[in-house]
Amino acid sequence: MFHVEHLTKPPMQLNSTNNPSLLFSFEEALFQGLPEDKGLFMPVQIPEIPKELIPQLDKYTFQEIAFQVAKALLNGEIPDKDLQKIIESAISFPAPVVMLDDHTAVLELFHGPSLAFKDFGARFMAKAMAYFNKETESDLIILVATSGDTGGAVAAGFYQTPGIQVVILYPSGKVSPLQEKQLTTLGENIHAFEVEGTFDDCQALVKEAFLDQTLRSKLRLSSANSINIARLIPQIFYYWEAYKQVSGMGKPVVFVVPSGNFGNLTAGLIAQKMGLPVHCFVAATNANDIIPEYLNTGLYNPQPSIPTLSNAMDVGNPSNFARILNLYGSTWNIIKDHITGYAFSDIETEQAMRQIFLHHNYIMDPHGAVGYLAWRKYQEKIKNEALGIIFETAHPAKFLEDVERILSQKIDIPYNLQSLQAKEKRSTPIAVNYLEFKMHLLEAFEKK
Ligand SMILES: *Cc1c(COP(=O)(O)O)cnc(C)c1O
Repeated sequence: MFHVEHLTKPPMQLNSTNNPSLLFSFEEALFQGLPEDKGLFMPVQIPEIPKELIPQLDKYTFQEIAFQVAKALLNGEIPDKDLQKIIESAISFPAPVVMLDDHTAVLELFHGPSLAFKDFGARFMAKAMAYFNKETESDLIILVATSGDTGGAVAAGFYQTPGIQVVILYPSGKVSPLQEKQLTTLGENIHAFEVEGTFDDCQALVKEAFLDQTLRSKLRLSSANSINIARLIPQIFYYWEAYKQVSGMGKPVVFVVPSGNFGNLTAGLIAQKMGLPVHCFVAATNANDIIPEYLNTGLYNPQPSIPTLSNAMDVGNPSNFARILNLYGSTWNIIKDHITGYAFSDIETEQAMRQIFLHHNYIMDPHGAVGYLAWRKYQEKIKNEALGIIFETAHPAKFLEDVERILSQKIDIPYNLQSLQAKEKRSTPIAVNYLEFKMHLLEAFEKK
């Protein structure tokens, strides 16, 4: 087991991307989610993993690596024994690298309970919240609005966590049947509200609850927002884990990341700052090409989002852009040296899925296929001098109807999805009406 020494005396400190002088602990950033100035929490210092340890990575398990990376970042805020327990229960499934050809690898990030990479973030956040929450009397209530994917990961991540209740709001009829099952069949501490409205309506109800001082005097509320720093940290782990698995090949490594809000890619930039040898990052997007445009022109021009086949990446104003700027002092020249960006249409994505199946006998979901396209384009530049690791961010069965239509092929459904189909949906239907929502919350959770 290698050991990373604590580099500074105080535990991890974070500040806001909008105000470097106010400092927060990890615990504060975890429960607050967002700083009041509407920036994003960032670590003040990014610790380095000692260089001599990098050639030895392959002696360690994924969990051991995750523990050391988390320990270096948190720098003592959670005692080693407790941190180890958090890692062991959160990082409880593998992230295997699969080779497509000599220069192309896929990092499968879909082996968690909701079959998407968001499981890593949601589970680590849930275990960290449960750790800090353990000595209080009333339950902590997590409110989250979802358009589909985040809710499933959060529900599975917090399921059966003592002392924490989760309230998920989703737009009725606007999530896939499978996603709805993931939100509504767990029960116990997971409560699904089916809102007669849009995703934006769900978000507005959550926002109003957070602003409601009378509600907050009665209930302890927190959020499970995707920009929570605790969801970013575990995404750093699997960059190290992927590097470990391919380091024997002795090739420079290019990480290819299908991106929407750019949390995944930002985690990679942090891994690189910690000392991970990365040749380059390739940001792959669908028609929502705000960041590839920025990388090409230096102009950041957010747009309303465009619906696409790879819908978890339909983001017109990527929230982690502020973190990317923060990492490089807002200097476009430096940012574009670290990240290359490409955008692709749905037609190209469908072609790529058929090509990957034909040439590599591998079934890739639409998000991963956007990554594949970006890698092939980057490869024209770099030839065979590097190994591309494409992130497969979700299991293809999550997008069953699209994948079967595009490949003209039935695909296997993993066991945990099959068993979901049979489970009974339990949700509370509500109108877009804050008072009705508030009444439900008080009825369910006051003085429990
Ligand atoms: C959330 C998601 C993405 C986008 O990840 P970001 O970190 O927001 O860039 C990509 N693919 C899938 C399947 C997702 O669920």
